[in-house]
Amino acid sequence: AQTPVKVTVTGAAGQIGYALLFRIASGQLLGADVPVTLSLLEVPQAVKAAEGTAMELDDCAFPLLRGIEITDDPNVAFNGTNVALLVGAMPRKAGMERGDLLEANGGIFGPQGKAINDHAADDIRVLVVGNPANTNALIAQQHAPDVPAERFTAMTRLDHNRALSQLAAKLGVAVADIKKMTIWGNHSATQYPDLFHTEVGGKIAAEQVDESWLRDTFIPTVAKRGAAIIDARGASSAASAANAAIDHVHDWVNGTEWTSAAIVSDGSYGVPEGLISSFPVASRGGRWEIIQGLEIDAFSRERIDASVRELEEERDAVRKLGLI
Ligand code: NDP
Repeated sequence: AQTPVKVTVTGAAGQIGYALLFRIASGQLLGADVPVTLSLLEVPQAVKAAEGTAMELDDCAFPLLRGIEITDDPNVAFNGTNVALLVGAMPRKAGMERGDLLEANGGIFGPQGKAINDHAADDIRVLVVGNPANTNALIAQQHAPDVPAERFTAMTRLDHNRALSQLAAKLGVAVADIKKMTIWGNHSATQYPDLFHTEVGGKIAAEQVDESWLRDTFIPTVAKRGAAIIDARGASSAASAANAAIDHVHDWVNGTEWTSAAIVSDGSYGVPEGLISSFPVASRGGRWEIIQGLEIDAFSRERIDASVRELEEERDAVRKLGLI
C-alpha cells in the first residue's frame, strides 16, 4: 500500500482551515488515489476547536484519510511533513502599525520555518496563505537554510482565479476559454493582474477590452475583491481562498502549463533575487518554473515595479526588525 502523504495545516481551526481540510481529506489536493494524514497546528486556545473539526473529519469517513494529529507544537506538526499549508497568521487589527504586524508574524513564521527546516520530509513543499503572505513566506524560508528555497511559496492563485472570473464575465466567455492569465508581485492591493499575455480565443485579452476598463475597473476589482466579499458576506473569503490553496498545491505536484504563484525570484523580469513575488509559472516534474521571454510593455512595467518595490520595503522592514 502507498505511504500516506503528511499534510500540515496551520490555523486549522480558522475559517479557511474549515473550508480546506475536508477537501484535502477527500483527495482533491493530491489526487483521488493518494492517501493522506493530516496534522492540525493551532495556538493552544484554539486546539479544542481544531479537535471539533477533527471529529467532523472522522465523521466523513473519507477512505483516503489515514490519520489526524492535533497539536500546538510546530516541531510535532511539521515532523515528517510533505506538504505544509501555512494559513494561521496574525491579522492586521485596526490601528496596528505595519512594524507590529510584521513583528507578530515574524514570531509565527520564523519558528515554523525552523521547525520545517529541522523536521520536515526531504520533499517538503510549503504554501503560505496567511497574510502578509509573501513576506511571511520569506521569513519562513530564511529560517530554513537546509531546505531548498524554491520549496517556499506564497499564494496568489486566488487573485489569479478572481482575474479569470472577472475577465470571463466581461467577455461573455467561459473561464476555460481563457489562457495565460498572470498575477505579478505582492498579494496585496499593489498586485498586477496582466491581460497583455492573456489569450481568449487565440487573441490577446488586453486588445479585446477598453483600456479604461482594464485600468479603472478590472485591476482594482481584482485587487479589492477581498474587501467586497467582506462587505457582502459579513465575513472574509474563506472557501475561495481554500480553493485557491488546493489549486496551487495540486498544480505544483501534478503539473500545469501556466498559472500564477509567488515563488523565490531568480532575478527574472527585474525582480530582485530572493524576493518571493508572483510570476507567470509552469510546473514540470514537481517544480515551479518562471515562464521566460515575455515582453513587458510600459504600462505593465510600471505596475510590476510598484508591487515589487512594496515587497522590497517589506523585506527591508523585517530585516530591520531582525526577523530575517
Ligand atoms: P482565516 O482562516 O479566515 O484566515 C487566515 C489567514 O489567511 C489570514 O492571515 C488571512 O489574511 C489569510 N488570507 C489570505 N488570503 C485570504 C483571503 N482571500 N481571504 C481571507 N483570508 C485570507 O482566519 P481565522 O481568523 O478564521 O483563522 C485563523 C486561525 O489561525 C485561528 O484559528 C488562529 O488560532 C490560528 N492561528 C494559528 C497559528 C499557529 O498555528 N501557530 C498562528 C496564528 C493564528 P487577512 O487577515 O489579511 O485576511
